[in-house]
Amino acid sequence: MKIICIGRNYRKHAEEMAQDVPAQPIFFMKPETALIKAGLPFFYPSFSRQVHYEAELVIRINRTGKNIQERFAHRYYDSVAAGFDFTARDLQKECISSGKPWEIAKAFDGSAAHSDFHPIGGLEDPGNIRFSLKKNGLLVQQGHSADMVFGFDALIAHVSRYVTLKIGDLLFTGTPAGVGPVEVDDKLELFLEDKLVFTLKVK
Ligand code: ZN
Repeated sequence: MKIICIGRNYRKHAEEMAQDVPAQPIFFMKPETALIKAGLPFFYPSFSRQVHYEAELVIRINRTGKNIQERFAHRYYDSVAAGFDFTARDLQKECISSGKPWEIAKAFDGSAAHSDFHPIGGLEDPGNIRFSLKKNGLLVQQGHSADMVFGFDALIAHVSRYVTLKIGDLLFTGTPAGVGPVEVDDKLELFLEDKLVFTLKVK
């Protein structure tokens, strides 16, 4: 299983990061070891002083495919989760400014987590999936899938030009505006539509 993450896929998040909206999707990967095991907290890593939450919609690939055309991409997933792409923002800034790859900032152990998967067809509005994040009870991020620069199908088409997608692969589809720091003892709650689907403590 591999984890593929999309960068700058919401206009307002690109703006808050002072970056351009890309003409093509940007993706990077995390290893399987990045995923937090069920029931465990997020352990704040010793090598960063500025870890940010990024709440994202996650889709799970359910068929193997390569060079998938956008019009057929909907056949490759049928469920969605809400998840976290934790980012060591201080290390990422350093990587970007010195032209280095992002792995130490994005692929570390515990840098990914997600709720259970929910059938997309069972959601209120499958064409515009709403999700949000509360930190210590306060709403900090809210996203709508229709605001993505590249939708699920375009992302699958793009990524699968380069990388074969296999059953069980996870696609983190980018974060909306409102990213910010986490601190030890924070409680993070992810919502799909109005339903609380995932709670994570920071330790
Ligand atoms: Zn992200």
